[in-house]
Amino acid sequence: MKLKRRDVLAAMAAPLAGAAAGCTARKPAEKAVETAKKGKPLDLSEFQPKSMLVVPETKVEKAKFPVVDVHTHFSFPGKAEAGVTWGETLVYLAPPEELLAVMDRRNIQTLVNLTGGYGNGLKECIEKYDKKHPGRFVTFTEPMWEKTNQPDYAKAQAAAIEEAGKAGAKGLKITKVLGLYLREGITSGALVKIDDPRFDPMWEACAAAKFPVAIHVSDPVAFFEPIDRFNERFEELNAHPDWSFHGKDFPSNAEILEARNRVFARHPKTQFIALHAGNFGENLGNVSECLDKFPNMHLEIGARIGELGRQPRMARKFFDKYQDRIMFGTDAVPHGDDTPQQVYGDLLYQIYYRFLETEDEYFDYAPAPVPPQGRWRIYGVGLPDKILRKVYNENAQRLIRLT
Ligand SMILES: [Zn+2]
Repeated sequence: MKLKRRDVLAAMAAPLAGAAAGCTARKPAEKAVETAKKGKPLDLSEFQPKSMLVVPETKVEKAKFPVVDVHTHFSFPGKAEAGVTWGETLVYLAPPEELLAVMDRRNIQTLVNLTGGYGNGLKECIEKYDKKHPGRFVTFTEPMWEKTNQPDYAKAQAAAIEEAGKAGAKGLKITKVLGLYLREGITSGALVKIDDPRFDPMWEACAAAKFPVAIHVSDPVAFFEPIDRFNERFEELNAHPDWSFHGKDFPSNAEILEARNRVFARHPKTQFIALHAGNFGENLGNVSECLDKFPNMHLEIGARIGELGRQPRMARKFFDKYQDRIMFGTDAVPHGDDTPQQVYGDLLYQIYYRFLETEDEYFDYAPAPVPPQGRWRIYGVGLPDKILRKVYNENAQRLIRLT
């Protein structure tokens, strides 16, 4: 009450101060309209409203069933140029022991590390994590992006997939390097298309090796829109303008997804896990159409509970219809403080469990003082046990061949 009183007094003082400064020429009614319009100045970055809603809050300490998180990154290729990751050497963001402590507390059976690189780096990563802790860590390989303009690339890449399988990798990860960063001259020239035929032997090699392809192409639709007051992710893009794909020579979000769909159609034996809710959680109608059209398409929900949870009724039906094809994932990055919705840790998993297991209303989708992917809150979808089991682990176990 005190705060409110102070606000009222401040609002009353403002027009008085104006009058004292000599602006008495206008009629009181006009002045009132002007004051209402302007109000008190407040920088958007300082706005942190506290919800006054009183609703049940469920703390889900552990997942109801053991979890396979199919989308994490605890290693990364060590070098990057103009957005293209480079070379065999990996950097590691956390040792296995640090990861296992959270896993044990939150009932996580397995973490799938998607960015395991290739060649010697990949082998080293599998030795350090997968082989030291059987069943707890799984590693995916990545394409040799920096070699994509060499004449023998197509063949060499297919051979590298086979090699990765022998080394113990369980799948292939495609980052948004493909479609948004990789160019004909690797870092210069025209953007390489997602359905470029040079990758055909790679997609086929994945089918032969029984590698699912975890594919992240495109990004939230707002990233393809101007960074202005109409953009629903203004604050996020304003803080990271390099995440914007608006203008320049970037294709539209629709063009990217169409090229991706042509790949799905051309390689029906290859299984694809479309990450981030197919990167179109804003339009589940479109994602449904794709799932109906492509039986080799599967989904993962990492960093998109903000989208799914703001349309809980639609999302609930979606989980019901595609319960055999949706997998749990978070896109968790140890110490990834730049993206609060993805920091690997206890809080992150508790939010995901709350979204999937409860019907709690209007809660934060990320452990952050301000919702980092747009200013809204989410609602739980309260999945029944049968669907929870599939999403938490059964679908992943089958597709990634974990047992
Ligand atoms: Zn990711």
